[in-house]
Amino acid sequence: MDILKRFLSYVSIESTAGDEKESTCSDEKMLVLADKLLDELQKLNPNEISINQFGVIDAKFEGNSSKPMIALLAHMDTSPSASDKDVKASVVDYKGGDIKLNDSLSLTVKDFPTLNQAIGHQVIVTDGTTLLGGDDKAGIAIIMDALTSIIEGKENHRPLEIIFTTDEEIGADAKHVSLDNVASKYGYTVDGGDYKYLSIESFTAYSMNVMVSGKSIHPGYAKDKLVNASNVFIRFFNALPEYLRPEHTEGREPFYHLCSFSGNEDGAKAEMIVRSFDDVQINQMLDLARLSAKRINDSLGYEAITLDIKQSYRNMRVVLDKYPEIQKEIEGVYKALGLPYNYVAVRGGTTGSQLSFVGLPCPNIGTGDYNCHGRFEYVDLDEMKTMAKVVKLLMKA
Ligand SMILES: [Zn+2]
Repeated sequence: MDILKRFLSYVSIESTAGDEKESTCSDEKMLVLADKLLDELQKLNPNEISINQFGVIDAKFEGNSSKPMIALLAHMDTSPSASDKDVKASVVDYKGGDIKLNDSLSLTVKDFPTLNQAIGHQVIVTDGTTLLGGDDKAGIAIIMDALTSIIEGKENHRPLEIIFTTDEEIGADAKHVSLDNVASKYGYTVDGGDYKYLSIESFTAYSMNVMVSGKSIHPGYAKDKLVNASNVFIRFFNALPEYLRPEHTEGREPFYHLCSFSGNEDGAKAEMIVRSFDDVQINQMLDLARLSAKRINDSLGYEAITLDIKQSYRNMRVVLDKYPEIQKEIEGVYKALGLPYNYVAVRGGTTGSQLSFVGLPCPNIGTGDYNCHGRFEYVDLDEMKTMAKVVKLLMKA
């Protein structure tokens, strides 16, 4: 099966992540894809294969080289930010210019200049009503294509471990992995965008839930009595630097982001996230939030605001810097194939942001997927094919 057919067969299966569950994956729909992958992997005669209660697959293939076993990881779920029900993907021979998705929606070069890099390539797009699911089914297709070609072609390879995870998009993927079962010393997540970009760095991430309790009084008789919880939250939010929001930051800049807010006079709550590449900086940002809440509480004379701050994941560079040989290996593969490469810090988390801290250091490599999590998502098929070559050589390295 060619990689395009394979990819299209994966995106035809709905696998949107839902709310995290204790004993299974967030939405059982993704188990349909898990079963399909289990079946495809079984046909390649692994030495060991398992699927756990969360739908995470781990397949091991003994190798015939003295190189250490490596893990290749990709995730089955797609982002809840847009639907992936009935994805209608089409392949465009891209010659430049805007791509019309439907009567009212186009993928424009002005908004998405990465299209310029796809001129002369085949590009897979949606009909503008769903996301595509290239994040991360392009990664799965790349791994399966490379693996199938090696196993069916009876080519020499090192010991391999394939791990397909669930619930990456809600940050629960790493804890769903049965670590006792993992035999590799390190791995690679195939979950990035541009094929040139290698990532050994991710954000350090915190969630910050803000709870506000107000004092509700009839507005007609509220003078000097009402404490409007919604207004207290607005005061708190405005005490944080306006230009440290996602819409004003890029590159290595950190941010505070308001994900959701609801409230009335009596009570208000907000879900926020805080992100930075630097542990010292993020602690200062969290301290600023705590100080702002305290000052407001002091001025009101009671604990109107409480903050619940939790770490979600950490910059994997802290771990990966200790393993320069992993970097050398992937660079060697790019060099051997004559491909350009660059290091970029992921402005988000990857499965490796968590697994790197529990014994499986994992840099992230590209898939050719662009504009993920929305209707403008597209996959550069030529880049996906290039990444299948990269992964194949990694498997043989
Ligand atoms: Zn992803």
